Amino acid sequence: MKPMSTVGAAVDRTPEAEIIESAARPLDIPRKNRVYVNRNLRLDKIEMVGFDMDYTLAIYDQARIEQLSIQATLDKLCVNKGYPDEIRRLTYDPALAIRGLVVDRPNGNIFKPDRYGFPGRARHGSAAIERDRVAELYQRERMSLSSPRYAWIDSLFALPEAVLYACLVDYFDRRSDTHPPRPDYAAMWDHIRECIDLAHRDGSIKETVQGRLSDFIETDPHLAETLHKLRSSGKRLFLLTNSAWDYTDPVMSHLLDGQLGAYPSWRNYFDIIVVAACKPEFFTEERPFVELDGEGLPLVRTSTGPFVRGRIYSGGNLKQFEARARASGDGVLFVGDHIYGDMLRSRKSSSWRTAMIVQELEHEITTTDRLRPGLVALDQLDNRLNQLDAELNERQSAMRTLQRLEAEEDEGPSGLELHAAQRAVKTDIDRLRVDLKRTHAEHRAIEKETDLAFNPHWGPIFREGYEISKFGEQVEAYACVYTSRVSNLRFYSPMQYFRGPRDRMPHERI
Ligand SMILES: [Mg+2]
Repeated sequence: MKPMSTVGAAVDRTPEAEIIESAARPLDIPRKNRVYVNRNLRLDKIEMVGFDMDYTLAIYDQARIEQLSIQATLDKLCVNKGYPDEIRRLTYDPALAIRGLVVDRPNGNIFKPDRYGFPGRARHGSAAIERDRVAELYQRERMSLSSPRYAWIDSLFALPEAVLYACLVDYFDRRSDTHPPRPDYAAMWDHIRECIDLAHRDGSIKETVQGRLSDFIETDPHLAETLHKLRSSGKRLFLLTNSAWDYTDPVMSHLLDGQLGAYPSWRNYFDIIVVAACKPEFFTEERPFVELDGEGLPLVRTSTGPFVRGRIYSGGNLKQFEARARASGDGVLFVGDHIYGDMLRSRKSSSWRTAMIVQELEHEITTTDRLRPGLVALDQLDNRLNQLDAELNERQSAMRTLQRLEAEEDEGPSGLELHAAQRAVKTDIDRLRVDLKRTHAEHRAIEKETDLAFNPHWGPIFREGYEISKFGEQVEAYACVYTSRVSNLRFYSPMQYFRGPRDRMPHERI
């Protein structure tokens, strides 16, 4: 936290002074803190900035929250579903799941789809499935990832579900006894989902987090000044969270109360506060807004007319929100972390602009930077493989020509000349084949080594082999901009013109 005296001075500065100062600041933003642009976004045109809370404003300690979720779910699996107590003593490796994976429920498999939805890496439980087998299992059929057969791991909250599933598939595959009868793979997934939902609903997870907020939720020392900076340029801020008031209030207090002198309470930062918003239905359905009192209890008065600063609203819907907030659709920037609930639905149902918080970006970028020499070598090896392939094709076609000439006995060069030429071409072909094999092996070795550094089981979250991953493709499609944390916005002017890269077809790339 900044010393209060400095902060007080910052609050007294005029918005104009702030903007001039940030415009004058050199653009030396570390890569892990930059905002990355898919579609142009002019912050000067944005009148309102909305924020989701969990995993957007509130960054969880992933290892701790996963451990807690796994523990709470295991309890319920044993008590409510009759799973053997032994499962409590298994080792649950958090690296077994990343965002963007798909669970094949009936088969006990988890895979990482590329941008076209085809599985790249796949595992049965925690064991890797060979590439050829993956192709056999999946690529021959026309896959529909929206079918109930598949479940998406699309939020950080869902990672423990995939970890549990992988470990329990292993556990039940190893067991030879049939008492109690083992659940089938699909039922196992459904039990995990049911139990984790119950653990969220009945307070098993929430109460522990609330009791030890500083163990579970990071306080970002720059969050307050980031929100202040947006406010001082004249933008209105709102909170739109699915969490209920009894959880939102302590979490937001933990993040923001007392951080800046001008804002004694977190509520002072926001012009509109909406809890229990039920996204994505918030964007598609027409639930009413209900006003809550300071204790989170519904007020009897009907909630209509413009929103009043300082009041707490619950539920609601997009249409009423825009009318009551007097917001124009494309003047709203919504910042969230969930591809479906925050990004996809808001992009499809409204003209809100979107900024996605991908906290994994910090690790992905730091790893990419550390592995730069290996990644450059991979690019060079890609070029070398293309070149060797082309040379081999040319030599093989030369060989076919020589063989044809040999068959046409009466014309052309003599038999001796032909044999000499064929021997030379054969030597070239053999040499190229050896070279190709060696280059492929080198490529595989470097690729494996670099992938392991991102995640030992799944590699980077944004790529799958040569392709962008499905997760990467969704971020590209639904987030106008993306960044690792909300406070990265402080590096930019509130009038920033985020310019996207010029879109190019493959033939336009030089
Ligand atoms: Mg969230």
